[in-house]
Amino acid sequence: MRLPVSVRRRYERLSSLPEGFLAFGDAICSFNPAYGQGMTVAAAEAVVLRDCLLKGSSQDLAQRFFAGAAKLIDVPWDIAVGADLRYPEVEGPRSAKVGFLNGYVARVHQAAVSYPAAGGVFLAVANLMAPPTRLFSPGILSRVLWSAVPTWPSARHRRASAA
Ligand SMILES: Cc1cc2nc3c(=O)[nH]c(=O)nc-3n(C[C@H](O)[C@H](O)[C@H](O)COP(=O)(O)OP(=O)(O)OC[C@H]3O[C@@H](n4cnc5c(N)ncnc54)[C@H](O)[C@@H]3O)c2cc1C
Repeated sequence: MRLPVSVRRRYERLSSLPEGFLAFGDAICSFNPAYGQGMTVAAAEAVVLRDCLLKGSSQDLAQRFFAGAAKLIDVPWDIAVGADLRYPEVEGPRSAKVGFLNGYVARVHQAAVSYPAAGGVFLAVANLMAPPTRLFSPGILSRVLWSAVPTWPSARHRRASAA
């Protein structure tokens, strides 16, 4: 898709910014387009900017906006970059959190085979319509744990194996 990397620029970490300067959308963070998040994030940033304009002064507008945008970007960034890091050829640091989440999401996919609601929640989270905590709601968590339990061979299967 002509975008070889996901890029996140941490404007919120700058101690001083040029006056009247604001970055937005892909200029703050561009994701692998495969996950279809960029327009949603840009639209959500517009809401953050609106709220910043309604509250506080224009003096620290950029700092407040970048801080709000950073919080917003954390989730889609973790989803997109974490999912890309499943592939061994993708370069980037693989934290314990990335490993845990990718393992958990793989189990959610497995659980969705027999429990379609798990698939629905996964799609809602991936499409930024629900917070990632929904993946850990009791209903999904119990199905994920259940799907991890090894299934014992049925009596018929045992007989067939013995034969
Ligand atoms: C192949 C592909 C598929 C995608 N699919 C999805 C999807 O399904 N869902 C989704 O949510 N997101 C998707 N995205 C991401 C989405 O397109 C971007 O995140 C979104 O367009 C970012 O908006 P933006 O305004 O920041 O940048 P852009 O939409 O890139 O707008 C920047 C504009 O600035 C102009 N420009 C650049 N330089 C200058 C200059 N020097 N002077 C004047 N103008 C300039 C450009 O011509 C452009 O019109 C996809 C991206 C790609 C590449």
